[in-house]
Amino acid sequence: MFDRHSIQKAITILGKGTLDILFPAQCARCSEPVDTASSLCAGCWPDITFISAPYCVQCGYPFDYNVGETPLCGSCIAKPPPFSSGRSVLKYDEASRDMVLSFKHADRTDQTPAFAQWMVRSAPDLLAAPCLIVPVPLHPNRLLKRRYNQSALLANQIGRLTNQPVAPTLLLRKKATPSQGSKTFKGRWLNVKGAFAVRPTMQEKLIGQRILLIDDVYTTGATLSACADCLLNAGAAQVDILTLCRVVRPANLSI
Ligand SMILES: [Zn+2]
Ligand SMILES: [Zn+2]
Repeated sequence: MFDRHSIQKAITILGKGTLDILFPAQCARCSEPVDTASSLCAGCWPDITFISAPYCVQCGYPFDYNVGETPLCGSCIAKPPPFSSGRSVLKYDEASRDMVLSFKHADRTDQTPAFAQWMVRSAPDLLAAPCLIVPVPLHPNRLLKRRYNQSALLANQIGRLTNQPVAPTLLLRKKATPSQGSKTFKGRWLNVKGAFAVRPTMQEKLIGQRILLIDDVYTTGATLSACADCLLNAGAAQVDILTLCRVVRPANLSI
């Protein structure tokens, strides 16, 4: 089945604008036609919560009010994560959930350019300096079932937009962990413990590098922390994280 992006290259020969006539840009959430790609329709804009400063400089947890020049959330103070800086674009809530789930499970890969564009815009500081972009991997069994890794799609597109190198297969998921969705907070951390490894043939690529780790949703930080630990142990100089969504629990609850 042809889609907007797979025939983009071929159709440019027919002249600018042809693509938009044949495949008008769609709202990233509901598929209504919109003027420009990377956008939401007028009905969806008010429902989606974009995260903006102030936020925790280490994990991206958003604050309601300013808490100093280099704000840190309670979780990062109590148990500093292995990554240095973090950012997320959207609050993961009822309004964004279906949009993200359709991207993940229902072949809405046409959403990739919009989501990647938003991620680039939300983290200019993390993308300004040289970095190696690495997606959180899926286990091969899950990749076979799902046919694509949504985090790798985002990573590749972010690399294209910023001219930063991408290493989509650098991390391996060696343990076929059950879905994190059904797990408790503690269960999520245990579930991903030792689940990741750096592909031995690619280890040299990351030595001394700053890695920008990409994932679709930051829930407890367990998966991202497990990946960051693995990258740092293998020789990365620093790991930062960038995710499309962030589950935002009240600050007084453990996250
Ligand atoms: Zn819409
Ligand atoms: Zn934090």
